[in-house]
Amino acid sequence: MKRRNFITTTSLNTLAVGLGISSLAQANTETKKNKRLSTSNMNETAVAICTWEFTKANATAGALLDQGYSALDAVIAGVAVEEENIKNTTVGKGGSPDREGNVTLDACVMDHTGNCGSVMCVENITNVAALARKVMEDTPHVIMVGKGAEELAITSGFNSEKLLTEESERAWKEWLKTSDYKPIINIENHDTIGMLGLDKEGNISGACTTSGLAYKMKGRVGDSPVIGSGLFIDNTIGGAAATGMGEEVIKTVGSFLIVELMRNGMTPQEACEEAVHRIVTSNPNHTNFQVAYIAINKKGETGCYCIHPGFKMMHYSNRENKPVIAGSFLKS
Ligand code: ASP
Repeated sequence: MKRRNFITTTSLNTLAVGLGISSLAQANTETKKNKRLSTSNMNETAVAICTWEFTKANATAGALLDQGYSALDAVIAGVAVEEENIKNTTVGKGGSPDREGNVTLDACVMDHTGNCGSVMCVENITNVAALARKVMEDTPHVIMVGKGAEELAITSGFNSEKLLTEESERAWKEWLKTSDYKPIINIENHDTIGMLGLDKEGNISGACTTSGLAYKMKGRVGDSPVIGSGLFIDNTIGGAAATGMGEEVIKTVGSFLIVELMRNGMTPQEACEEAVHRIVTSNPNHTNFQVAYIAINKKGETGCYCIHPGFKMMHYSNRENKPVIAGSFLKS
């Protein structure tokens, strides 16, 4: 690791430390990033939304947006709250392992210029959304996987740490007794955090980060780091993010679909509903899995929808951070 990577710190880093997002602060080391937007042309109302009731994560992003940080800075700092929350067994450190006991993380980011970065199957690194940003900004590539992504993290100044907590290990050993693979995705089992931000310059960016389905096969990757599936942004239209059964989201390229539906005139709510309908009409097995979407358009209008009741989206604007109960295709 190059020592100079640790020398410069930015105001976002200081804020990240204040918010307890320690490893993110370490990862944000380059002065060219994390600058507040210029004060001219800052008349938009900032909005942050995220999947599930990740209150602190969404409030963190919302506060940064209100302070004039870019949507990209805000969403990466926001999702880092859950990546570092060891009680959350579906994102970052403390995430449930695959069936062989390895915690492997997936994440992607996309910014208002259409640039994107993704990492898949990464071990030992907590802040994988920030790592996806490194791929986007510091490499000629879009996707990096496994060891290569981990090496990029280490040379970029990220900490290497054990992601399997005692609690996740205990639950995995319990699961091994039956090895019954039935992913239950609902409110009791908080899932992937996908977050979308609209900043004061009216630009939209997003981040999506997860440990994927608990006890997945070794090497399995879901929708979350797949651009267009777990996340998609078109800054002229809006953005969308997904959570739930990744295999089903990938088959319908769900987030891209939602943005295209908005391009064709749908509201974010109508687009989320149509994307869920595509899944349920093509898959009679839909009663057995959950998929949920969130979306935002350029006007800051938002929407969310899911298959099974129980999904909530967090919504931040004008200093108010509140849960929104999503409508669902199935009513009970
Ligand atoms: N979408 C994630 C995946 O399939 C899982 C989740 O949202 O819980 O990996």
